[in-house]
Amino acid sequence: MPTERIDTPQGAQRWAQAKRAEGLSLGLVPTMGALHEGHLELVRRAVAENDLACVSVFVNPLQFDKAKDLETYPRDLARDAALLESVDCAMVFTGTLEGFFPDAASPEAIPRVDPGPAAEGLEGAHRLGHFDGVATIVARLFELIEPRRAYFGEKDFQQTLVARHVAQALGGPEVVVCSTSRDPDGLARSSRNLLLPAERRGDALALSRALLAARALWRAGERQPELLRAAMLAELDQASIDLEYAELRDPEDWNREPNVGLQRARALVAGRVGPVRLLDNMALHDDA
Ligand code: AMP
Repeated sequence: MPTERIDTPQGAQRWAQAKRAEGLSLGLVPTMGALHEGHLELVRRAVAENDLACVSVFVNPLQFDKAKDLETYPRDLARDAALLESVDCAMVFTGTLEGFFPDAASPEAIPRVDPGPAAEGLEGAHRLGHFDGVATIVARLFELIEPRRAYFGEKDFQQTLVARHVAQALGGPEVVVCSTSRDPDGLARSSRNLLLPAERRGDALALSRALLAARALWRAGERQPELLRAAMLAELDQASIDLEYAELRDPEDWNREPNVGLQRARALVAGRVGPVRLLDNMALHDDA
């Protein structure tokens, strides 16, 4: 199916209105572009579960806390569009901050959407204002497209909790969370991996190895957060990583300090490897 390309949020809104008026269900996949196989898995699922799938490609300045990170974020819309066509995406749209928020006189004047309680800690603590920016653009995308379902990757686990909060506050869409797509060596796929120097890949792999070590210990019956965490740190210490956090959380009770009685757990790590900030996470319990 040819993928229609639309360059304004208002154009995308008109497209979505017309399709919904025909009775078609829409699946939306919000992205920042530089698409990889992980993104395409979300799009394939959106194609399978809805009448039409559409994708937004927008490097959202509101969610970046560092100008350099925003500047160097990889962009390749022509390649993205070709990839989306190969997976039967019906429409891809882009926009500018002004295009998304035409009523705001400046970026500071854009009213921020509450990201909810899951925005606290981890990514929220290390990237100030990040989840306000995420919630604000996610809410705008939901309002413009009114999709039946929206697809998010487990790779950004905390973001999925924020997306759920926003969807709940707006009364839709259904948020679908897709499992993390990895390269064969275990590295979680990320657009930022394009910026990872080849000689630092070994260091980057310590992130997924740390998560696997915690999971192995959990499967052997360990439930003490500190010991599970120590297993992660043992892997991370062997690599050259500027670690930001390596933590455990109860995914059903995000804001509580995990204690010994942990029934479910998710391990989450983030750090800088050379010029790139990477993050990863994994459920330790089996029924996730
Ligand atoms: P991004 O372009 O990085 O903002 O990602 C857009 C969507 O794709 C988000 O919901 C991400 O969580 C998801 N995503 C990115 N990388 C992966 C991956 N390796 N596996 C699954 N989903 C991913």
